[in-house]
Amino acid sequence: MNTYIFISDLQKQLQSFADANWSIGFVPTMGALHAGHLSLLRRSKKENDITVCSIFVNPIQFASQSDLTGYPRMMEKDSKLLTEEGMDILFAPEVDEMYPPGEELQLDLDFGRLDKVLEGKSRPGHFKGVAIVVKKLLDIIKPTRAYFGKKDFQQLNIIQHMVDTLKLPVKVVACETVREPDGLAMSSRNLQLTIGERQLASRIYDVLMFTKANAGSIPVKKLQMMAQKRLAETPEFRIYYFEIVDNRTLLPVSSWADPKHIIVCTSVSLGGIRLIDNMELFS
Ligand code: AMP
Repeated sequence: MNTYIFISDLQKQLQSFADANWSIGFVPTMGALHAGHLSLLRRSKKENDITVCSIFVNPIQFASQSDLTGYPRMMEKDSKLLTEEGMDILFAPEVDEMYPPGEELQLDLDFGRLDKVLEGKSRPGHFKGVAIVVKKLLDIIKPTRAYFGKKDFQQLNIIQHMVDTLKLPVKVVACETVREPDGLAMSSRNLQLTIGERQLASRIYDVLMFTKANAGSIPVKKLQMMAQKRLAETPEFRIYYFEIVDNRTLLPVSSWADPKHIIVCTSVSLGGIRLIDNMELFS
């Protein structure tokens, strides 16, 4: 595997692939890689001639300094894992390479309500930070396809919106959520949980499954309240939201009339660690 830390070196290499008309798959990550990331990487490898994985803990999407510094980093382990996976290229820039001092950070794009609801309510500016870094990475790498997990459903929705609105020449590929055996969605943040918290965390999945099992047979609002109550039975959870929404607008639905677009999204913090998850209710 070739590792690049400078944009110009990476682009020189990628130009030779573009000249040969090779398709390029791209998987952006923040590292601390787990089986969820690997599922995206393997899919990209299958569908493209070359796959680029990026590891960059993007400072501008973190609301607090302590969250940013506490985010798990394990470059050596990640790099070894990627080599074992037969990955082609790793792009692992430093912050100054992505955001040269003095360069203005902006993205002239209106997400409407998409970045204001759900995660956006308690993390103002988060999705703007995500969109800026993803746009930058797409401009640098110019991939044929870029792979994102449904685990971060709102992020996926916002990136698809950005790609459509700016007519970026890339296909966004949405990948299924990979879960631990007890149902907890895999996440780099799970590493920050204590053993006791880790055991409690699977209750989020249990409540999502309860919601799915009852979707369509109990009125939406009532089911949402019943599920919220179940979640609240674990006092260690701080619940930011638990909402049954339309997967296009991310706005609450009031009936089951359009089942194929109905999804439940939740965000819970446990010992100060924010965990998010979601589930399609009629798939
Ligand atoms: P992150 O490193 O958390 O920024 O995630 C990088 C990419 O991996 C994003 O597109 C995530 O949605 C995706 N991802 C993270 N966790 C999972 C998971 N459990 N299953 C599938 N994709 C995931």
